Amino acid sequence: MRIDLHTHSSASDGTDTPGDLVREAAAAGLDVVALTDHDAMSGWAEAQQAADEVGITLVPGLEISTRFRHRGVHLLGYLPDPTHPSLVDELDRILEGRTARTPAIVAALREHGIDISEEDVRRESGGSVAAGRPHVADALVRSGVVADRTEAFATLLSPGQAGYVNRYASALEDMIPLVAAAGGVTVVAHPWGRGSRSVLDAEALAGLKDLGLAGIEVDHQDHAPAARAELRAIARELDLVVTGSSDHHGLGKVDHDLGVNTTEPEQYERLMSLASRRLDG
Ligand code: AMP
Ligand code: ZN
Ligand code: FE
Ligand code: FE
Repeated sequence: MRIDLHTHSSASDGTDTPGDLVREAAAAGLDVVALTDHDAMSGWAEAQQAADEVGITLVPGLEISTRFRHRGVHLLGYLPDPTHPSLVDELDRILEGRTARTPAIVAALREHGIDISEEDVRRESGGSVAAGRPHVADALVRSGVVADRTEAFATLLSPGQAGYVNRYASALEDMIPLVAAAGGVTVVAHPWGRGSRSVLDAEALAGLKDLGLAGIEVDHQDHAPAARAELRAIARELDLVVTGSSDHHGLGKVDHDLGVNTTEPEQYERLMSLASRRLDG
């Protein structure tokens, strides 16, 4: 059984529609795929329909923008009730922060002499409710300012650079219990990716486990082999579920092909059993 628990569609900043993503997952030989768009559950219905058609299991999820010790942390949530009022309210706050950030980034880039418009970005974000920097990157590619998303993040869109603007994110310590209250389970995404290792050390992870955290994503392309080994040891020590996933973004991110990392079936079963809501069927 091949299980990939972290993917993005055009409901956020992936380039495949939710339906295409699920069909590609089946073609890639996956039996289970989780759709985890940034701060959004709007792709679930289309993905579920495709999953029913091709006969694979869809785990409905999302990747929530949170803050912990003044640093951004991505929190994967699986199976929450998509109508839970407090969860919906909090996600709306995050999405509003995303929407408000786009004009601020455009203004900062224009100040820097780069001539792009909000309309250029909106064309790229299309049907997504979660406007993000990757959409700005796509607009910059189309305007010929950079060659690809990677160059946009390397030169203009990361903290300290001309086009970087901060946005609202929820407190991690509040979001873990909130997803649980909505019937779901949580897993910290790429905990040691991009220099966040010092933030989420073993002691911090132990505290998060006390708040209800179910697991950590260990096998992720942002983690070198040594980091994976250390994280696996911490997970064993703390009795946290270990997941592995692609963090697929379609054409938007290289080296993140569907199934490039996978989750062990026993870990997946345990994760699902820790949610109070159940997968359909
Ligand atoms: P945002 O959600 O707007 O803060 O943007 C963060 C998103 O940008 C995440 O989904 C990352 O996967 C993506 N991202 C960050 N760095 C890069 C990169 N170098 N190339 C492509 N995508 C990136
Ligand atoms: Zn993304
Ligand atoms: Fe992430
Ligand atoms: Fe992701």
